[in-house]
Amino acid sequence: MNDISQFSNGISVLEITYVIASVLFIFGLKMLSHPLTARRGNILAAIGMVLAIIATILFHQKDSKPIGNIGFILAAIVVGTVIGWIIAKRVKMTAMPQLVSFFNGMGGAAAALISMMEFPHVSPELIAKSGMANGHVLAILLGLMIGTVSWAGSMIAFGKLDGRIGDMRIKAMKYVNLTILAVLIGFIAYIMTRHVQASSELTPLIYIMFVIAVIYGVLFVMPIGGADMPVVISLLNSFTGVAAAMGGFLYNNQAMLTGGILVGSAGTILTILMCKAMNRSLLNVIVGVFGGGGQTNVVAGGTVKEISLSDAAVLLSYSKKVVIVPGYGLAVAQAQHICHELDKLLEEKGVEVKYAIHPVAGRMPGHMNVLLAEADVPYEQLIESDEINPDLPNTDVLVVIGANDVVNPAAEDDPSSPIYGMPIIKARDAKNIIVMKRGMGKGYAAIENMLFFNDKTRMLFGDAKSTLQNLVNEVKSL
Ligand code: NDP
Repeated sequence: MNDISQFSNGISVLEITYVIASVLFIFGLKMLSHPLTARRGNILAAIGMVLAIIATILFHQKDSKPIGNIGFILAAIVVGTVIGWIIAKRVKMTAMPQLVSFFNGMGGAAAALISMMEFPHVSPELIAKSGMANGHVLAILLGLMIGTVSWAGSMIAFGKLDGRIGDMRIKAMKYVNLTILAVLIGFIAYIMTRHVQASSELTPLIYIMFVIAVIYGVLFVMPIGGADMPVVISLLNSFTGVAAAMGGFLYNNQAMLTGGILVGSAGTILTILMCKAMNRSLLNVIVGVFGGGGQTNVVAGGTVKEISLSDAAVLLSYSKKVVIVPGYGLAVAQAQHICHELDKLLEEKGVEVKYAIHPVAGRMPGHMNVLLAEADVPYEQLIESDEINPDLPNTDVLVVIGANDVVNPAAEDDPSSPIYGMPIIKARDAKNIIVMKRGMGKGYAAIENMLFFNDKTRMLFGDAKSTLQNLVNEVKSL
């Protein structure tokens, strides 16, 4: 009988499929870097993943025997797919960041479970056979540590983004976290030196390591608050990728390895970019230290001045340059389409309209880009904050729509503020500022924003969607 798992020249179907899947992952990731191709990129990478799963089930062999427990595997796939599908269908756009964090945590948990399942099987015979004693065990231990930290940390991030968990800031936290990290590394070193003689006796240590890694994951994300969550989220993302790559090493599975490395390196690059954007150090991210002391010295003072819809419409229509600063509130109100309608109307009147995009506006990296791409706002109109800041003194009207922390001058003025040092959109440099929000509610960092009390600022209160709709009507009637 022909062996369908191999081509006639001896190359296995599984290996070829893994190469195809890896290529699809790489092209998918590349396409994710632009809003116009992102959707197709996502589908391409998903096809790669489906191919890899099907090929593994059909062609993977261990000791010349096909994969076992097919019934359980298929049942788990069906249950996971149905639950994931329902959650993804039902989730509100504004709850996407929490969902992404939750799913990321599941990846970390899967990697940790693999390690816990595999360690008891590491025997001197297996090591002698595979000839990779240290590499094998190190991959298991790192997969366990990093995967568990990613899972526990992502669950805390989920709770914080969902508003269920607050910040917990203790001065000594940095030292506690460094100590726990050192203990974890100590465990790895100890197990590495002892596993060849006594791997089965060491299994209980694996469970202790798991508990310590959970504690570390919780403690390192707990103090993160204010404007620093995005950095931690991308770091957790890279952890999950690295943990999955460890599984790839363990099973010598090229698709898992490539997928893990891609997620790990993309997450790491994003973390470094976020650290730069937020003016934070990577070491501080890893031990859970952020921002200023947590309590800002800024006390709201003065009065806020309002502007009527008709005055706002006139001001905007007779400007030369308008800059819109979108923020989380725009996503909450789902006002991106009507916002684009306003910018098109103004452009028809000869006004130049640009969007100032802050790297951490919204609740997930790239949130504003995704939101505005959904409304077909041309990509060229979106300008990064450091690029648009020098242009703001020449801007006639800057319209803040549902943004708060990303335009808060406390980041420049108040060393005690938790967002101190974070680069902001320098809204106060513009000639006139209109702020659209429902009331005097604070942003994610929960601090006062003196921009709202600035002499040049006029507040336009109300839900962003209905306010923009009314504004569009006013502009049309001029
Ligand atoms: P903020 O969270 O600072 O502020 C949003 C503002 O929107 C609020 O002050 C609120 O005021 C207003 N708002 C809410 N709903 C509406 C509505 N329906 N219509 C009009 N306004 C509304 O948003 P920013 O985008 O400025 O900043 C993002 C913050 O989130 C940063 O601190 C960032 O670090 C953090 N973060 C970002 C993540 C990311 O990856 N991008 C991840 C996690 C956290 P009011 O209630 O008065 O209407």
